[in-house]
Amino acid sequence: MSDHTKLSAALFDRASAVTPGGVNSPVRAFRAVGGVPRFMASGDGCHITDVDGNTYVDLVCSWGPMLLGHAHPEVTAAVQAAVGRGTSYGTPTQPEVELGEEIVARTPVDKVRLVSSGTEATMSALRLARGATGRAKIVKFAGCYHGHVDALLAQAGSGVITLGIPGTPGVTEATTADTIVLPYNDQAAVTQAFAQYGDQIAAVITEASPGNMGVVPPVGHFNDFLARTCKDNGALFISDEVMTGFRITRSGFWGLGSDTVAPDLMTFGKVMGGGFPAAAFGGRADLMAQLAPEGSVYQAGTLSGNPVATTAGLTTLRLATDEVYAQLDRTAETIRRIVGMALSRAGVPYRTQNAGNLFSFFFVESSDEVTRRITDFAGAGAQVLPRYAAFFHAMLDNGVYLPPSAFEAWFVSAAVDDDALATIEKAASVAARAAAA
Ligand code: PLP
Repeated sequence: MSDHTKLSAALFDRASAVTPGGVNSPVRAFRAVGGVPRFMASGDGCHITDVDGNTYVDLVCSWGPMLLGHAHPEVTAAVQAAVGRGTSYGTPTQPEVELGEEIVARTPVDKVRLVSSGTEATMSALRLARGATGRAKIVKFAGCYHGHVDALLAQAGSGVITLGIPGTPGVTEATTADTIVLPYNDQAAVTQAFAQYGDQIAAVITEASPGNMGVVPPVGHFNDFLARTCKDNGALFISDEVMTGFRITRSGFWGLGSDTVAPDLMTFGKVMGGGFPAAAFGGRADLMAQLAPEGSVYQAGTLSGNPVATTAGLTTLRLATDEVYAQLDRTAETIRRIVGMALSRAGVPYRTQNAGNLFSFFFVESSDEVTRRITDFAGAGAQVLPRYAAFFHAMLDNGVYLPPSAFEAWFVSAAVDDDALATIEKAASVAARAAAA
């Protein structure tokens, strides 16, 4: 056992004795890249420090939420004050009203309902869509992740249009029988699905710009196409901005302005909780009015709108000004450039794709593929995965914490400074050589 991971390894052993795989969410176990998962002890700005005392520039940011960096003084002070006042009442509170107002002001939704996780947000949005339309089927896209909602843990079969087959044991065929899984960015497949099942489809759900198969943005105004197709067929369009919301722009992917047709429903999470469990779904007022207690579609939560979580989220959003987003864009561009240059120097064929400041690298097979845009899950899957594992570990050993899987987006925080960029540049040149080997 290596000395610099001794304490993480010991904790991993203890964790494995009481928790399946030693982790509370699978990707944390490093299975895709191998090695000992690092147990973090603290974070400060753009850095995280593990229990062995190793410090890393953090390009995961808790899978998105830590937009301003770790332990931001103003967020910390607001949270400490909120905790001091009391942590949960199961009654309405002022911070949740203010967070709702902030979300409505930043996005095209008329009303929001707060929940505690992105999974709950998408699950509740689907229920509302089914309740509102009186229809059962939903369309999702291969490679889009919407949390571990049973009906959305479906994999496509072999045809272009396939009714979902359960993507994991424990999800029954009956549960996914109403889930239609289509290839992402494939307008013809969507048209065909509506031709076949049009009057049964309650909703189409998609990540506004997928980040869970690496970053694979929509092409050909795919979101507008989906929104219009839904409208023409009496279905609802659900845009999942759990990852992109309040990260890419003040509102999310929507704020880039490339989409023009407002979704019927949207889901949010991650950044809006400022590092605490808070998420939301929202949309058109007439649809949201169908939720209990105003309407009859039931949805609830003991800790929904929790005052500490909403204070953290609200403080984060209020600090996330246009200048912060401009800085995030610059930082993301710089990292893409310096990592790209290192890979080119080492002769590693790669593609990098982005949606605003959200980006990822794909280690492609050959230089022919470098210019070929990756538009769907099949394209994202054709990567040289061992290269990513080698790259990841060399970055880690040189002080940069990347997502421990090739299929994830890289997340920057506003706390990344010139020193951190220098660390990334130095690490990338070693890591690129490791990936080339
Ligand atoms: N939707 C998207 C687009 C996500 O990226 C995620 C999580 O990564 C979720 C939903 C689920 O969110 P949570 O992990 O908070 O349940």
